[in-house]
Amino acid sequence: MGTGPPASPSGPVRLTSIPPRTARAAGEVLLHDESGALVGQVRFRLCAPCRTGRLLGIWILESRRQEGLGRRAVRVALAQGHGHRWNTTLQTRPGRGFFLAVTAHEGVPLRHGRPLCPHLLGPVGSALGRLGLRRLVCPPHDEPS
Ligand SMILES: [Zn+2]
Repeated sequence: MGTGPPASPSGPVRLTSIPPRTARAAGEVLLHDESGALVGQVRFRLCAPCRTGRLLGIWILESRRQEGLGRRAVRVALAQGHGHRWNTTLQTRPGRGFFLAVTAHEGVPLRHGRPLCPHLLGPVGSALGRLGLRRLVCPPHDEPS
């Protein structure tokens, strides 16, 4: 582990956090380089009542993948739901190592799996729910009704 901030051989990156506009919408953390070009994006969804969060996707420009940008962006996303329980969508093989590193550094367990509450299902889950297939996607909500 280094002592200073990660080196940025290709120039500094600006992180912009865009909170979800509605309860069902996804929030984003966008990474732009000095020229304003998009070099990374993290998408996430939050449920404030249940204090749950879900990372939907992480993309970092291939030429900028060794700079710790993904971890910085995820840290910003996790801060939007501080104290929430988080998980992620299905993790690819390289993704698993990444999330293990995030877990170690941020102290936030990030397992992949089904949404931690039904409100995080999103459009696909909602469509399945309308078809009566939600059971296959997410267990019943365990909150007392
Ligand atoms: Zn919820």
